[in-house]
Amino acid sequence: MTTTTPATRYETVIGLETHVQLLTERKMFCDCSAAYADAPPNTHVCPVCMALPGVLPVMNRKAVEFTIMTGLALNCEIPPFAKFDRKNYPYPDLLKGYQISQFDMPSTQNGWVEVQVEGEEPRRVGITRAHLEEDTARLTHKEGADGESYSLIDMNRSGVPLMEVVTDPDMRSAEEAREYLLKLRQILRYMGVSNANMEEGNFRCDANISLRPVGSAEYGAKVEIKNMNSFSAVYNAIQYEVRRQTEELDAGRVIAQETRGWVEDVNEAFGSDFAKGSTVSQRSKEGAHDYRYFPEPDLPPLTVDLSYVEKIRAALPELPDAKRARFQSEFGLSLYDANLLVETRAKAAFFEEAVAAIEDPTDAGRLRFARLIANWMIGDFTRLLNANETELADSRVTPKRLYAMISLIEQGTITGASAKSVFEEVFRTGGDPAAIVKDLGLEQIGGSDEISQIVDKVIEANPKPVADYRAGKQEAVKFLVGMSMRETKGRANPATLTEILKQKLEA
Ligand SMILES: [Zn+2]
Repeated sequence: MTTTTPATRYETVIGLETHVQLLTERKMFCDCSAAYADAPPNTHVCPVCMALPGVLPVMNRKAVEFTIMTGLALNCEIPPFAKFDRKNYPYPDLLKGYQISQFDMPSTQNGWVEVQVEGEEPRRVGITRAHLEEDTARLTHKEGADGESYSLIDMNRSGVPLMEVVTDPDMRSAEEAREYLLKLRQILRYMGVSNANMEEGNFRCDANISLRPVGSAEYGAKVEIKNMNSFSAVYNAIQYEVRRQTEELDAGRVIAQETRGWVEDVNEAFGSDFAKGSTVSQRSKEGAHDYRYFPEPDLPPLTVDLSYVEKIRAALPELPDAKRARFQSEFGLSLYDANLLVETRAKAAFFEEAVAAIEDPTDAGRLRFARLIANWMIGDFTRLLNANETELADSRVTPKRLYAMISLIEQGTITGASAKSVFEEVFRTGGDPAAIVKDLGLEQIGGSDEISQIVDKVIEANPKPVADYRAGKQEAVKFLVGMSMRETKGRANPATLTEILKQKLEA
């Protein structure tokens, strides 16, 4: 039994390669529609993406623009020249026998993105490059009645624009790798360049993992993991692989440079923590030379004007980190709350629209309302969206309605307790909060006369707690306040009610 933990003996080194399908209308080198998700097999095809002889590719400019947008968002250099290359490998999903990709002159390179694991300092992950290529066809492996296996090919995906984002080996834990992927997905979605949905297969990640003794400057043998189809799969696969490599190194064995596949529910080699799956050796890793890259002769090199790049930069939306920082400084929100509000562009836009509706002209009033809007969005609104499995975009609550309801609380028309019911009704019907308050009879009881009558009734009906309180048992008042609030159906101001109750008890 050793007391040294793996974390203190070895350093984990992780680099990620993420393939991102771009949301262009057309495929990368032909006019076929790239929106094939619900199409019957082999209906979005033409001679170019079926790789028939004698056809020529024509570059999709929108895909280049999306790649440059991504490069700029990831703080990359945009070189003035880029080119396409042929990456040769024989596999049935690759109809031409080669993939058009970018090898030594990619469209973007040398960037970084900041990621932060909760409870740790933010760290920069280097972006080696984001380059452009094309997707492959899809194979489905089947077994016939005679037990013989065969494969079906669907060429709809063949030639769909694909961007590969490659990081430097800068991540040090599964948590950090997950944060990086979440950040990348968020940025891509903000810009609308991809759906970036792992489960739908338009955001696919491979991980390179190695271990080295702490303090060592050299990298260990790199293992590439494929077939991870969800964020949890990436996280679990990295955890598993770190554990496996640690045990191999501890046993004095050499880590083989290879490609391994993530397979869920295979074994429980490392106990229940790792019962979710394991990595399985697939093949020894090929080096770059095995692909016999050479320049694509059918496409001209890309010349990228500085003015074109600056035009794209100027049109970029405000990105999540900048938005979060602005929400913090402009509205005094915490890092945590601001992060939740900028999670999606739609959420941030909702918040900003609600804030724009604030009528209070004072700075203090504006800040108070902004905080209340944030609280309602993060609290009740999110809870109702989750419970009803609804997206913000499909919700009936509008920013103005949310602000109107908060105004009713601030004006004293309704209590905080009633507001919860009012908001649920706004959520359900999309109705006007003021009208809902009238319909449900939820106006706050204003006059102390009305509260007084209710309190009298409660005192009369509960002689025991009343006697207890008068005998010095202070906490008995809580029960009486609760009974009175219930009697008012939450329509009384709790502070006013408590005050009146105490006066009567002490009279
Ligand atoms: Zn086509």
